[in-house]
Amino acid sequence: MISFFENFLLDVLFPKKCVFCGRYSEGFVCKNCLKKLKFPEYYCLSCGQPLTVDLQICYNCNKEERIWDGYEFVAYYEDGWKDIISLFKFKNKPYIADFFSQIGSEKILRKKWKIDYITYVPLSYKTLKERGYNQSEYLAYFLSKSLKVAYGPLLYLKKNIKPQKTLNLKEREENMMNAFGVIENREINGNILLVDDVYTTGTTLKECTRTLKKSFNLDKVYIFTAVRVLI
Ligand SMILES: [Zn+2]
Ligand SMILES: [Zn+2]
Repeated sequence: MISFFENFLLDVLFPKKCVFCGRYSEGFVCKNCLKKLKFPEYYCLSCGQPLTVDLQICYNCNKEERIWDGYEFVAYYEDGWKDIISLFKFKNKPYIADFFSQIGSEKILRKKWKIDYITYVPLSYKTLKERGYNQSEYLAYFLSKSLKVAYGPLLYLKKNIKPQKTLNLKEREENMMNAFGVIENREINGNILLVDDVYTTGTTLKECTRTLKKSFNLDKVYIFTAVRVLI
């Protein structure tokens, strides 16, 4: 868990500088650079795919059984957003989660989702050790602060998985099948917000949602990711 003290250190050690132009600014992206970033307009409420016609749910999501109850994200994984994600995930800048969660929490509040608990997709022990942090936990932490909802871990990876990047959809599904276990038998009821950094095919999020719904007495599971890959 990220403690108050760590949060204090984050504020002191990482004064906010624009990640693009390096100028000091009120956020991690200054107003000038923010103007250059694109935000999604019309998209599927279940998976985030762009929609051109006046629909709420895309063709694919309408066809399949929908596992979760709503989805929200900040931007598509393109242009400058790729740079931000790279810093966030691989360059030891987990506090960029604050930027994503500021935008994300506003979008979530507009949806009027009632959220009782926030949790996040776990990393493997190996990745966590190498990277030193789970960027999705930071997203959950900052969302928890702005939405005033408790957060914490509920899932862990119980089997060795291959990097999803190298696999096709079917292989991804097999790879993630029964990959998650539940950390502790806690009394979690109501609605959960499940957080991840990147939504690619949704395979990982589907498996996490399945595990959460199976293990806890939940009503709804909502999904939030920082970015959505266009496929
Ligand atoms: Zn800037
Ligand atoms: Zn969809």
